Amino acid sequence: MSTNRYDLLIIGGGVSGSALLYLAARYTDIRHIGLLEKYAAPARVNSLSSNNSQTLHCGDIETNYTLEKALKVKRAASMLRNYATAQPDSHHIIFKYSKMVLGVGTKECEKLRQRFAVFGEHYPNLRLLDKKAIAKIEPHVAMIDDKFRSDEVVALGSTNEYTAVNFEALACSFVRQAQMTREKHVDVHYNEYVSHIKIEGNRFLVETGGTCYQTRALVVCAGGHSLKLAHDLGYGLHYSCLPVAGSYYFTPQLLNGKVYTVQNDALPFAAIHGDPDVLVPGATRFGPTALILPILERYNLKTLPDFLQVFRFDRRVAKVLWDLIRVKDIRNYMLKNFLFEIPVIRRILFLRDARKIVPSLRLGDLKFANRVGGIRPQLIDKDHRKLLLGEAKIDTGIGAIFNMTPSPGGTSCLENAELDLRVIVKFLDATINEEAFKNDLLGDDEKHTDKDFSGRVLSGNDAA
Ligand SMILES: Cc1cc2nc3c(=O)[nH]c(=O)nc-3n(C[C@H](O)[C@H](O)[C@H](O)COP(=O)(O)OP(=O)(O)OC[C@H]3O[C@@H](n4cnc5c(N)ncnc54)[C@H](O)[C@@H]3O)c2cc1C
Repeated sequence: MSTNRYDLLIIGGGVSGSALLYLAARYTDIRHIGLLEKYAAPARVNSLSSNNSQTLHCGDIETNYTLEKALKVKRAASMLRNYATAQPDSHHIIFKYSKMVLGVGTKECEKLRQRFAVFGEHYPNLRLLDKKAIAKIEPHVAMIDDKFRSDEVVALGSTNEYTAVNFEALACSFVRQAQMTREKHVDVHYNEYVSHIKIEGNRFLVETGGTCYQTRALVVCAGGHSLKLAHDLGYGLHYSCLPVAGSYYFTPQLLNGKVYTVQNDALPFAAIHGDPDVLVPGATRFGPTALILPILERYNLKTLPDFLQVFRFDRRVAKVLWDLIRVKDIRNYMLKNFLFEIPVIRRILFLRDARKIVPSLRLGDLKFANRVGGIRPQLIDKDHRKLLLGEAKIDTGIGAIFNMTPSPGGTSCLENAELDLRVIVKFLDATINEEAFKNDLLGDDEKHTDKDFSGRVLSGNDAA
């Protein structure tokens, strides 16, 4: 066995691990940094361009986010945008499309009007759009043939913002940039599957097939597998992992930008959206669905035993699942999403949901997107008997951190990496070049507020 020593070792080369690699290499004086990835390239799992919704979540149109959560995501999105737009190949990484969240029916429309009254101040580009204004941006949403749809609709949206990201291209960019930093030792080892982590003295020993890596600090960004490795080290045993897969459907191009729908508060994954796929021109992608699957990696049955290891089924997990199932909305939603995976009937069922966005959609337009969509590793907190909805982190306090990153983990990659970096830097007694960090990544974004936004309620006559 060869031995490789690092100050900081990162496990997982998705967008989270690669973002941390970049920040550590570019903004700290940590000298020996390594990354281990089990596949032959970065971002082959959930960060793969086809495995997620490619949305830069800013918080304005995500109706399940409170203002507090929205502003946190906004900062994270700004960091990503500041990085991506400064890259020479930014046009492969980040994209501008219109975006909106569509309210259908009186209740949802009222919810959006109220949201605009609170959020408008913090989002200068956000507009409240009536049916005519929606039709100018997304004709297929507001019209059926050449007539307006008959139900009440209102939308919140904007037209000239970065709204989509190829997270795979972003991860590749982070790795490239990290490897270009001078006076540092930055190693990226592909095809290295980490099977075991243990502690020896003040070092972590990280074992792969043929090598035992040693490191003073360790950050694991391996999706659901992070929990498996945390358990291996004896941490996070009160967490269980519930993998929620998402599938998509393609249609011919019907939308110009991203059209989200209002979330049901009881069902955070329930609302589908439609949007362009940054790598599939001439098509619109609808989804994702939400199906609980007993695997940690989509289309990889070999991860079934890994799931069984992290699921750690007991009475507390059963209680959380029972609490979910006994809510009628959730029960029906789970059943529907199971049916969404069954050939023939799935298209008929999905059509009903997608018609909320494009009312003239026909069955013949819908095509199940094969091998598209990843898995969100949602955690169950057994001690508090609840399902955690956002990202989760286990900070051991001894220089090892484990990240589990469901949506919006792509958007939050740099902010999440910043959090980890601050802990690791303290642990290693290293420093961050705060000025460069702030100048490059934070910019002026946090200063934007616009108190008078009454002129941003648009009717069809003034929509851009
Ligand atoms: C259906 C769906 C839609 C989504 N939509 C969005 C969206 O629109 N916007 C958004 O911001 N986020 C979205 N997300 C979330 C986003 O995709 C993830 O949060 C993000 O990709 C997670 O990145 P990651 O690097 O943490 O994990 P991953 O990309 O899964 O990377 C983990 C890496 O760890 C490696 N690894 C695992 N185990 C080991 C091991 N033992 N040894 C070595 N390497 C290992 C894997 O090979 C992989 O490369 C979506 C997710 C899903 C599933």
